[in-house]
Amino acid sequence: MKNDARLFVISAPSGCGKGTILSRVFADIDVYYSVSCTTREPREGEEDGVHYHFLTDEQFKAMIEEDGFLEYAEFVKHSYGTPKQPVLDSLAAGRDVVLEIETQGAFQIKEKMPEAVLIFILAPSVREIRRRLYKRATEEAEVIENRVAKASEEIAKALRYDYVVMNDELEQAVADFETVYRAAKSGDGSADSFKTDREEIINMINEVLENA
Ligand code: ADP
Ligand code: 5GP
Repeated sequence: MKNDARLFVISAPSGCGKGTILSRVFADIDVYYSVSCTTREPREGEEDGVHYHFLTDEQFKAMIEEDGFLEYAEFVKHSYGTPKQPVLDSLAAGRDVVLEIETQGAFQIKEKMPEAVLIFILAPSVREIRRRLYKRATEEAEVIENRVAKASEEIAKALRYDYVVMNDELEQAVADFETVYRAAKSGDGSADSFKTDREEIINMINEVLENA
């Protein structure tokens, strides 16, 4: 039997709305949604083993030594990593895998697994990202400002992804993300307008950076 399972790697600066979009898109699609390990504290409502595996620094280091991660990186003073085995098992079983990770990890994956599909979600401006993070109110102001400071750095790497989806109006972003997902699966050209070799996409990324 042909195994056409794909690995999807999705990044966006914190506050761009990737959690919101992905929970909508993948609510009715059978994919393996990877649960990462992190050394950061759980936010209110986050459950160990569901949203993340919350590890101590020592436990995280032990996972690195056991070669247990497909990729791992530091992000705003904490470590994050993707447990390797469940991803490989899902792909081998023919099930698509979704990783929601930051840019350093995404590029580690692309290097190891060039057939992975990298999708970047953008918001209209850094100002809007800050507004959304304060509205979400899951972090203190200092943490929010650290994440906002990191946003431009992350957005500047969007051109190295395969596709970019803008999350300005949520319903449109969900529809666009679905188009990209289905096109990447089928290999047709229906999502070519979201590819990063398009002049419109390059201009859009530059505009977001200029709107900082
Ligand atoms: P991320 O997972 O990228 O950190 P979230 O999905 O948690 O981001 O979204 C951050 C905040 O922005 C949430 O409060 C969410 O409800 C809000 N949000 C998401 N998409 C939009 C949008 N298109 N317009 C306005 N607010 C949005
Ligand atoms: P948060 O603390 O907001 O949950 O996540 C912070 C950042 O870390 C986000 O950009 C998120 O996508 C990223 N992230 C989450 N899990 C992983 C992971 O396993 N590896 C990497 N490299 N980044 C991750």
